[in-house]
Amino acid sequence: MPRDYYEVLGVQKDADAPTIKKAFKKAARKFHPDLNPDNPEAEVSFKEASEAYDVLSKPEKRKVYDQYGHEGLHGRGFDPNFTDINDIFSAFGDMFGGGFSDFFGGGGGRSRSRGRRSPKRGADLEMVVPLSFMEAALGVTKQLEIPRHTHCETCDGGGLKDGAKAVSCGTCAGHGQVIQAQGFLRIRTTCPACQGQGKTVDPGDQCEDCGGGGRKRETIEIEARIPPGTYGGLQIRHPGKGEVGEPGAPHGDLYLTLDVQSHEVFKRDGADVYVTVPVPYAIMALGGEICIPTVHGEEPMTVKQGTASGDVIKLRGKGTDELRARGTRGDHHVRLVVDVPTELSEEEEDLLRKLAEIQSVGVTEKGFWKGLFEKFTI
Ligand SMILES: [Zn+2]
Ligand SMILES: [Zn+2]
Repeated sequence: MPRDYYEVLGVQKDADAPTIKKAFKKAARKFHPDLNPDNPEAEVSFKEASEAYDVLSKPEKRKVYDQYGHEGLHGRGFDPNFTDINDIFSAFGDMFGGGFSDFFGGGGGRSRSRGRRSPKRGADLEMVVPLSFMEAALGVTKQLEIPRHTHCETCDGGGLKDGAKAVSCGTCAGHGQVIQAQGFLRIRTTCPACQGQGKTVDPGDQCEDCGGGGRKRETIEIEARIPPGTYGGLQIRHPGKGEVGEPGAPHGDLYLTLDVQSHEVFKRDGADVYVTVPVPYAIMALGGEICIPTVHGEEPMTVKQGTASGDVIKLRGKGTDELRARGTRGDHHVRLVVDVPTELSEEEEDLLRKLAEIQSVGVTEKGFWKGLFEKFTI
């Protein structure tokens, strides 16, 4: 589950642009990869803060996020999808006009290799996770097995036999790029022979365990914590649990897409829960205490005297957890309808006929209610 962007930057929901920028600068300094070498957690935090800033600093994206949250952004293709740190540097490097090193108070920024492209991050994976209505409403932890690829241990992802060396690509002379001439134009493109790596491997020098591909299949187990209040279609991201990247690049992300089953009794709209409860006519007419089902268990409820069929009673705070406002819950809406008995005992039938007589609706032997029509024509 991606964290709330306001929470990531530690700002209020109504924070103005300068406050958001200031908060991002603070977070970016703290987690800057150059200040946290070999610290993958800092890199994840740096990426998280950058994504939060990308969304909250753009009014259009922020509006969508405020209204629909993470999956709203995803649905509109507004995902801040930084595949690696260099993407972030190219997105925000010049945000204060003085380049990234000025932004971070000197220290040289980052050296970006030119010409040869950086190793590509692994592909994202998606997995559909079926959930019962109750699991989505109350939250659940699932152990999941994810089949994916990882680096071949034998060759450490390089695809080479022990002792073998990759040779400089003959097509591009190791540059990773070739220049094609088209009339007066000279176009620089990725070398088709080595896919931009600048190196190739002789067939005899390929690692035997992976056939030179540098990767093999594996199954990882993850513990997926589904928070209470989730719903169908929601995607939860597990960074770094996707497909293997090129050597030196991180794994892609894993997206868990929730598929929530419907419930026999309950319906949900956001954090609000709806239920229809049949109540005997006598209780509707006279009033009384009943027990009604909620997602959190049974709750006592008072039916007022003279309750009409279809009346809705709202139990505040008895719905599911609000996904975006932790600690708050939606409401439980109970629609009371008259429970009409399909089978009557002799005693019940006698009493009901007597009641009908008192109400002078004139029931005949066959059950035809004569008097009703008169009521409607008054
Ligand atoms: Zn290998
Ligand atoms: Zn090449």
